[in-house]
This record gives sequence, C-alpha cells and structure tokens, in this order.
Amino acid sequence: MTRKTSQLIEIGERTVSPGEKSQFRYDAATTYHGDAVEIPVTVINGDKAGPTVFLSAAVHGDELNGIKVIQEVADTYEPADVHGALVCLHVLNVPGFLAQQRYVPISDEDLNRSFPGNARGTTAKRLANTIYEEFVVKCDLGLDFHTSTRNRTTMYHVRADMRDPAVERLARAFGMSVILDGEGSEGTLRNVACRNGVPTVTVEMGRAHQFQMEHLDRALHCVASVLAEYEVLPDRPVSWPGWTHVVARGGEKTWIRADTGGLVEREWGPHLLVEEGEPLFTISNHFKDDVEVVRAPFTGLVIGVLESAIVYPGHPLCHFVRVDESTADIIRDDIQRGAVDVYREGGFQWQGP
Ligand SMILES: [Zn+2]
Repeated sequence: MTRKTSQLIEIGERTVSPGEKSQFRYDAATTYHGDAVEIPVTVINGDKAGPTVFLSAAVHGDELNGIKVIQEVADTYEPADVHGALVCLHVLNVPGFLAQQRYVPISDEDLNRSFPGNARGTTAKRLANTIYEEFVVKCDLGLDFHTSTRNRTTMYHVRADMRDPAVERLARAFGMSVILDGEGSEGTLRNVACRNGVPTVTVEMGRAHQFQMEHLDRALHCVASVLAEYEVLPDRPVSWPGWTHVVARGGEKTWIRADTGGLVEREWGPHLLVEEGEPLFTISNHFKDDVEVVRAPFTGLVIGVLESAIVYPGHPLCHFVRVDESTADIIRDDIQRGAVDVYREGGFQWQGP
C-alpha cells in the first residue's frame, strides 16, 4: 500500500496535499452536553513518496507519555523532511483524557477492546469505528503509545506479534531491547490493525498521569529509527539495541503476586536483570517480626512493577519475564560495561539514548 508517487491524502474528512502540513481537530462524536468530541490530528504529507505512518496515543485516557511524544513529532517534522506521510493522532480516547481516566467515562468501556468498532454500537465501539475507518486503515503501519495503568510503572518495551514478518520488522526497527511477543487481546487497536494488513506495535513506557522526559527523548530516537527503516527519513540511520530479547509466547512471563499482605520494599535493582533466587521484594508487618522475602522464580527481567507501598495478598508486585542463559550473559556483560539502562530510585528512568 506504500505510495509510489507523492499524492493527496484523504484522511479525517480532509484532503492534505503533498508538501502540506495540516493540523486540525477531527469531530468524532458529541457529548451529552452537546459539545464536539474532537481528536487533535496532525498530518504531515511529505514532498516525496513513501509510506503513511500513524502514531497514536491515549487510547487509555490517562496514559500521557505518548501524547508528549506525538506533540514533539508533530512539531518537529516538516513535509520537506519526510518521504511519505505522518498521521499523528494526538489523543484517541478524548472523553477519558478529559476525565483523566483510563476508560471511556460513564459507559466505562475500554476503547482498546473496542476495535474495529461498530457505527451502530456502544459509545466506545462508535468512537473506535470512526478512528479505525477514518485514519488507521488509510495508513501503512503504526505505533500506538501506552503507559502502565495507575499505580504501576512499566519498563520501556514494545509489544508485537513477532510471528508476522511485517510486524517483526517494525518492532525491531523501533530499537528497544525487550519485545513482548503476542498478538494482543481481541479488540485492541494493534491486534485489529495487524490482522487487516497495517503492521502496528504497542509501545509501553513508564507511568500514567505524567510526562516523563527521560522516556520522551528515548521515544523520539526510536520513532526516528522506525522512520529510517521505512525510508520515510532515508538519510537517518536505523538504531539497533545491543541486545534484543523477544519474550516467547506462553509460560515465560508472569505477574508475581504477594502471598501475604503488608508493607512492601523493593529489593531488586538498579538493573532490570534479576538472577534466580535473588530477592525481588520484602513484605513485612508493622512490627517487622514477620518478613516475607519474594524471590525471583527464574533469571529474568522486571518489565512492570506495582508502585504501591502496601499490598493485600494476591496483589501483583511485578511483571517478570524469563531470559535464556545466552541472553542473560549478554545483559550481564552490558551491565559490567555500564551499557545497560538503569532503574533509579523513584521509578524507571533511562540514562539517555
Ligand atoms: Zn494502555
């Protein structure tokens, strides 16, 4: 579907000429108060031919990091820079964004389980259908930005269906070390887009409700790497991480949960690699006479962690993925050389691209 010659783009009920940058609000729905639900859109149609790439954020309304990434992408690139086009969908779940909550308010639906949507369905299904039909299917590939949900944080990683070579190419070009392999849940934007020939990956980065500038710099670097791989930015290099770990389907990743309630202390770190049997967390009672040590069940990577200081039995503590010995060796070497990104006190932070 990559365009061979530069051409008009008809998207979001607008026509954008080659060499034009168009910024507008797309009227996607109406609130019960009679206001328009408007999705902010930037279309950068290059002077020269190439693929059309969409970037989307805040399909979960309180996941803000991607909004900042897309603001910067939309501001940075001009038609003279790109071969092809960028379609920036700054906020997908506008009602959730306004309420600063994950789901579509009132109906409490997950917009990211509602694709491809239905023009006569529920609120979320209608919004999903409009987004999908007006924007997503008109693009060649896409990046959908997320963060962890409230009270958790996630290591910066990509989720992609690595069985699909077109998706694998996109995931690897993004240049993150950890790729979680899977097709994504039914109704997610990426699952539906991929099944319909628009390779799409999910980018997970950091916490909800914040702009984390250390993630932003890294993400802009990764977006440029994808654009280089598809020759949207033909003069830029594709950046590949020193190591890439693809977490295979089934069995290799697990949420580690608390078996006792209490006060939590994080024992792992500063690196994401934790060796089998090493402590991940301790959970203690007020009198500190009952301390449970939660240990790594295998050698693996912490990719997501609960930020709460207190837990009930059954609460998730961290999302942990197994790494094989050869990958672990590479990561250990990188740690020795100081080449691995470090978690610092207060959350997940990168040392820089
Ligand atoms: Zn999300």
